[in-house]
Amino acid sequence: MKLTFPSFDEKKFPDEIKIIWPINKPQDTVTLDRITGSLIGLAIGDALGASVEFRPQSYLAAHPVTDMMAGGTWGLKAGQWTDDTSMALCLASSLITENDFNPYDQLVRYKWWYKHGYLSSTGHCFDIGTATRASLEEFYDRQMQLKREFGYKTEYEIDQLPLSAIKNAKFNVNCSKKDAAGNGALMRLAPVPLFFYQTPQLAVEFSGQSARLTHGDDVAFDACRYYGALIVAAVKGETKDSLLSNQFYSQHRNWFGSVPLHKEIIDIASGSFKRPGGYEDGIRGKGHIVPALQAALWAFWSADTFEKGALNAVNLGDDTDTTAAIFGQLAGAYYGYRKIPSIWIETLYANRLIICIAEWIHYLGYPSSPISKTPTGSRRRDRSLSASSIQPKYMEETKLKRSHSTDHLKKSKRKSRRNLSRFLTNLVACGSRSANCN
Ligand SMILES: [Mg+2]
Repeated sequence: MKLTFPSFDEKKFPDEIKIIWPINKPQDTVTLDRITGSLIGLAIGDALGASVEFRPQSYLAAHPVTDMMAGGTWGLKAGQWTDDTSMALCLASSLITENDFNPYDQLVRYKWWYKHGYLSSTGHCFDIGTATRASLEEFYDRQMQLKREFGYKTEYEIDQLPLSAIKNAKFNVNCSKKDAAGNGALMRLAPVPLFFYQTPQLAVEFSGQSARLTHGDDVAFDACRYYGALIVAAVKGETKDSLLSNQFYSQHRNWFGSVPLHKEIIDIASGSFKRPGGYEDGIRGKGHIVPALQAALWAFWSADTFEKGALNAVNLGDDTDTTAAIFGQLAGAYYGYRKIPSIWIETLYANRLIICIAEWIHYLGYPSSPISKTPTGSRRRDRSLSASSIQPKYMEETKLKRSHSTDHLKKSKRKSRRNLSRFLTNLVACGSRSANCN
């Protein structure tokens, strides 16, 4: 399959992207409902908090958020979302384009968002975390060094490099300083556990690796491993009692490999978020990843519906959109798409695109993709740094499944490949070289 990348000069906003659904309707609609709920939940949390981002709790105690609102910090329309959702959609677009975990490609897409407004709700990057900005600048510098060393003419050529070239050049994709531990790694996480949920060990490891690209502190790595495990468990249908159990980590210890969680994350996994007084008891919606994780889990624990929990997260104040976006990833996976208030879904900007991306994640999710693992983009990727090298036994399972394909399935696969190609072409057209937020 050939994917043609259109020029970035063609400005296309997320709600203008032509929606193309997978041909095959899923038989497992329960899992699809959870996957869609998680991605939509992230975006709704983001959009709910966007109008009051950085407002202190005292302000929200007097003027609590009860619905999506326009204006506020960024002057957005009601339902428009911020960097949390843009980065999550960049990550999701990489996973479904590459059909794999390719950290270089993820960084390229984050850079497109930062510099060209790729998958932004306004067409440009209007907010970015300190650590993310520093990491993407570092990534750009490393790319330019590579460009000089290898004599490439354009930045776009460097963006298209296959992972084999990146590996041969010993290009380090972890672009963060070691002590970066902001909540920016957690706010965009969901696509990774949603894509790999069927192989929890892989989902947990890649959740951590996705953080390291922009947040180098071990506590960020482990916050994302733990939260990735919770999202996986929610998609698999575990009960709320199980997800919130102080024994969740020990009961799922084999998902985490040989390296134990950081002590600060173990404290949270042991139930430090269960504080009836919420803000009065020290829960804070702050920018550091540890209190942010604690606050999101508190919001999930404190309410019995998506709606109440999301409002609890936002009304903690401070980094309102990100606390609620983190909450929404887990709560959306647990409650499911159909339990999210429909009025919020209707108000959410580019809602059909996000639902469509969730369907592709479900359709392609590792390792059960009915579409060939041959790289889907114009860039042929080296698999050696990817999923297959870490857990080769899962590739064997995939091969086995493929051998059982019927003629009918092969036919529908060809149709779906064509649809995926058209959809991805539309996705890549979203963004413009003419917009720059530097
Ligand atoms: Mg934000």
